[in-house]
Amino acid sequence: VPELGFSRRLPLDDQWDVIVAGGGPAGVTAASSAAREGARTLLLDAGTCLGGLGTAGLVPGWCGFTDGQRFIHDGLARDIRNQLWDDLPQPPQPDGHLPPIDWEKLKLICDRLVRRQGATVMFAAQVAAAQTAAGSLTAVLAATKAGLVAFAAKVYIDCTGDGDLCALAGAEFHKGDASGDMQPISPTFVLANVDSVAASRLPPEQLRRQMMTDPQFPLLGRHVTGNPSGGASWPGIHCYNQHHAWGVDGTDPASLSAALSQGREYAWQYLQALRKYAPAAFGKATLIATAPLLGVRETRRIVGDYTLTGADHRARRRFEDDIAVNSFFIDVHWSWADYQRSLRGEITWNQYKSASQYRPGEVHGIPYRCLLPKALRNVLMAGRCVSADRDANGAIRVMPPCFSMGEAAGLAAAHAALKTGGDVRAVDPAWLRRRLRELGAYLP
Ligand SMILES: Cc1cc2nc3c(=O)[nH]c(=O)nc-3n(C[C@H](O)[C@H](O)[C@H](O)COP(=O)(O)OP(=O)(O)OC[C@H]3O[C@@H](n4cnc5c(N)ncnc54)[C@H](O)[C@@H]3O)c2cc1C
Repeated sequence: VPELGFSRRLPLDDQWDVIVAGGGPAGVTAASSAAREGARTLLLDAGTCLGGLGTAGLVPGWCGFTDGQRFIHDGLARDIRNQLWDDLPQPPQPDGHLPPIDWEKLKLICDRLVRRQGATVMFAAQVAAAQTAAGSLTAVLAATKAGLVAFAAKVYIDCTGDGDLCALAGAEFHKGDASGDMQPISPTFVLANVDSVAASRLPPEQLRRQMMTDPQFPLLGRHVTGNPSGGASWPGIHCYNQHHAWGVDGTDPASLSAALSQGREYAWQYLQALRKYAPAAFGKATLIATAPLLGVRETRRIVGDYTLTGADHRARRRFEDDIAVNSFFIDVHWSWADYQRSLRGEITWNQYKSASQYRPGEVHGIPYRCLLPKALRNVLMAGRCVSADRDANGAIRVMPPCFSMGEAAGLAAAHAALKTGGDVRAVDPAWLRRRLRELGAYLP
């Protein structure tokens, strides 16, 4: 860094075929899938566990793995699902109301899956810089407990959710709507010692109004406060992931830090308000956890060889190079302006949601080209940051499609590393689809 007046030599670990940045739903299946194909695979995660928002983010539930008729997120996704809930009915019964995620069990399942397939995991390793030459990524720098370390592989997969790796490598991206405004974040937290029966009898709207207008709890008025009874994950344990806060940019360190602190303040005020206004249900409640990973719904969408669109979603469009399918609706949470419109009764969430809801058996495709960041030869992406417009991103950002995209990306990365000299565009999509099918993927 010459302008700071110093330069330094860094240790280089270049023994890898595939490096995966980020170990959320997409990264866990990407690393497992690449290692299963025989690629020497390293998974770097900035946090201290696998599972991403489904564990460290305390998101309490998965969206469905089926299209209402059959598994559409099969293969590794189905394996993970069934390990978490080994007593669940299998399709043709639709997933319907899935049981809550047991976060600690899911962490173990992810650890074991990745290890069993032979990938190496490094925690507390934040990818912080990327080196490129002639359109290829040649190394990533991670900030680790031992300082900065350079890692090199033949192929890289960005599963950071925010598209950090691609952005650091200079890839083009979009963020939020045309004005850069992004969906609200949610500070996620868990209360214990709740009287769940009393909580289920509360009048949510009246209680919300009381809590949000009480000057003793100023933060509640500045957020949209979700249903006070939250989601009862287990008797007496209630999880809250529906409170909305606007104006946060999850890729801006200052904004992210402020939102994490404010989220903890918010959870604390929320608990005090519940104790005040609903003592029968919450008089003995305790705040037992706030999520260390901030509940960020939207940041970068990296521009790839194809950009999946809301029109594709509405048309149930399929592509020749589909590597996964999806049936989830377009879940773009409201901007502050739309929230104000909803308060005036001009729009309702249900109207909005039902406009993009599929009937049982309907799916749209996610083409391989959406996983290929433009102008980078040896990089793939999977999960929330793939190439999609805002509406399509709202539909494919939930965890089951992220598992499916991760498995496909891992397979393609291993093939590119071992067979095509690292060129991800030389992987034949027809071969990829055949191999994914052999491994259990649903690709009609
Ligand atoms: C409040 C909220 C509620 C939600 N509810 C649901 C729900 O009910 N059901 C559902 O299915 N989905 C839900 N979602 C969506 C879903 O959780 C995410 O979109 C999904 O987890 C994205 O998966 P991912 O693998 O792309 O990224 P993430 O889950 O975000 O994981 C990214 C991982 O990468 C790591 N990482 C990030 N940056 C770096 C870096 N620079 N270097 C190294 N590691 C890095 C992180 O530590 C993390 O482990 C919700 C999301 C939010 C925010």
